[in-house]
Amino acid sequence: MNVYCQRCGAKMPDSARFCSACGAAIPAIGPQPGQPLIRPRVGRQVGGVCIALARANGWDVAVVRIIAVLGLIFSSGLVGVVYLAFWIGIPEETPPLPGAYPPTV
Ligand SMILES: [Zn+2]
Repeated sequence: MNVYCQRCGAKMPDSARFCSACGAAIPAIGPQPGQPLIRPRVGRQVGGVCIALARANGWDVAVVRIIAVLGLIFSSGLVGVVYLAFWIGIPEETPPLPGAYPPTV
């Protein structure tokens, strides 16, 4: 994966946080691989399983959700059982301290 500065277009190493040419901050591009497998409290649709898998593997959460829904329809509920297994197996994100970050939605 190549990262390019959005201001000047200079090519950056993947781990760069700031452009070495113009100093512009480089925004994080989507979920980064290698995150722990946890179900976040923010951004979940049902149980947070899809977004947990997407974040942990660097996938697009929308793609994961579409595959999950289609799988649920075409697998006669097998994906639903797998989803429940992940739901039970994947730990939930530790709750934020009260007032640490108020809900933005
Ligand atoms: Zn730049």
